[in-house]
Amino acid sequence: MTAGVLPDLNLYIGGEWRGSAGRETQPVLNPATGETIGALPLATSQDLADALETAERGFATWRATPPEQRAAVLLRTAALLRERAEELAQIATLEQGKPLAEARGEALYSAALLEFHAGEALRNYGKVLPRAPGLRSLVLKQPVGPVAAFCAWNFPVINPVRKISPALAAGCSVILKPSEETPASAIAVMKCFQDAGLPGEVCQIVFGVPDAVSRTLLASPVTRKLSFTGSVPIGKHLMKLAADTVMRMTMELGGHSPVLVFDDCDLEKTLDTLVAHKFRNAGQVCVSPTRFYVQEGIYDRFAAGFAERTGRIRMGDGREAGINMGPTANPRRPGTIEALVENARSVGAKLLAGGGRGEGDGFFFQPTVLGDVPIEAAAMNDEPFGPLALLARFGSVEDAIVHANRLPYGLAAYCFTENGRRQNLLADSVESGMVVINNVRTSWPDAPFGGIKESGFGSEDGPEGVEGHMITKAVHMS
Ligand code: NAD
Repeated sequence: MTAGVLPDLNLYIGGEWRGSAGRETQPVLNPATGETIGALPLATSQDLADALETAERGFATWRATPPEQRAAVLLRTAALLRERAEELAQIATLEQGKPLAEARGEALYSAALLEFHAGEALRNYGKVLPRAPGLRSLVLKQPVGPVAAFCAWNFPVINPVRKISPALAAGCSVILKPSEETPASAIAVMKCFQDAGLPGEVCQIVFGVPDAVSRTLLASPVTRKLSFTGSVPIGKHLMKLAADTVMRMTMELGGHSPVLVFDDCDLEKTLDTLVAHKFRNAGQVCVSPTRFYVQEGIYDRFAAGFAERTGRIRMGDGREAGINMGPTANPRRPGTIEALVENARSVGAKLLAGGGRGEGDGFFFQPTVLGDVPIEAAAMNDEPFGPLALLARFGSVEDAIVHANRLPYGLAAYCFTENGRRQNLLADSVESGMVVINNVRTSWPDAPFGGIKESGFGSEDGPEGVEGHMITKAVHMS
């Protein structure tokens, strides 16, 4: 890769790379500088028609491919991701902004997902139901069909892998539309699949005007499943489109994760863990800890410790050594976060750290901490998706649970307490797809990842993620 410029950007349809000749293009920006770093071709209606026709053929090919061969392709892809981790990290950081160390972690975690799914490809077991002698019923698991997958820009390497890998393990073909803002990472991932021997018609990548792409793919009877990662409003819109052909869906939408910090926690360790996690990927993570409810007895010490640690974060171009937080990913984010900060302060929140945009033409916003944030502040209700920590006080465990469950979101929740009985109560009572106690890790290849309420439904990862790409068929034999 030439320094500061993305490799060639192309669509991948039917095993061929299609470039900008005869297609409109869209600039791709470096969020650390605002400079244009590539020109992305956008799919024509013929491209989309070709992709659908190819996906249908690809499904026939792939579902007939023995599971051990599918698994072998996934394992070879994982090996290539590990081998090319540095190259992938450079691309992801250039187009998305996160520090290189985080981008390297994305490549390695993606390889682990593929390795897990390779195992799952061998375990798509059905059932045999007992009947009278000579009779039996079978429950078969079969791939659902071609998948239309749309994903966001926040994890430019992991998001495409998270969509493609379980679909391939199940025996489905895929048309992926990654974010137009981070296309090169998805293309580099696709090259790993290609070089690992995945037949060209089985997985394809298109970019375009998102609304036109999703309307076309979801209106087609070829598409049998929708998998989406992005915001709640777009998720609701896509569900309505998908309803017309009654397709399967997995929805990984936004979150507004509560963090419940109790008086008896290990305060210093809790602060170290939470501050690092809050500003990972500049807070642009669906499971980012957002509303920090802190028990009255330790609130002042927690707020001071949080602000002090936040002040030590080094913000800058993610390609530079020693940077802990990069820019936000696109020009929309700083303005949105700035408005949320101003609104919160206008209703009485105290600014404890940060609070403003960075210098230069990049899309920087300082790591920011607001204290005693009133419930009516917009940020306490709308997903900030940026480097903004909101601190508030609570009294009893019952109050904490009411705060945690107040919003229509239910993706991740974090609880910090040494009391085992309380840990169990919180695990049972907090309305969230993932509850994490005394830690912040929500994602493991073998564990289901996903939300409830308006944060979505269906799981990614784990055996559940593959199951979401399969139909269940009953066969009664006599
Ligand atoms: P957005 O909702 O406009 O876009 C999110 C993603 O969805 C983008 O990658 C976009 O290309 C895609 N998209 C948008 N419209 C689409 C359509 N009609 N058909 C298919 N795909 C479409 O929001 P944004 O400004 O890019 O991001 C801001 C918000 O998105 C955040 O506040 C957050 O709520 C949400 N978000 C969530 C996640 C997540 O991991 N769940 C990731 C990124 C963004």
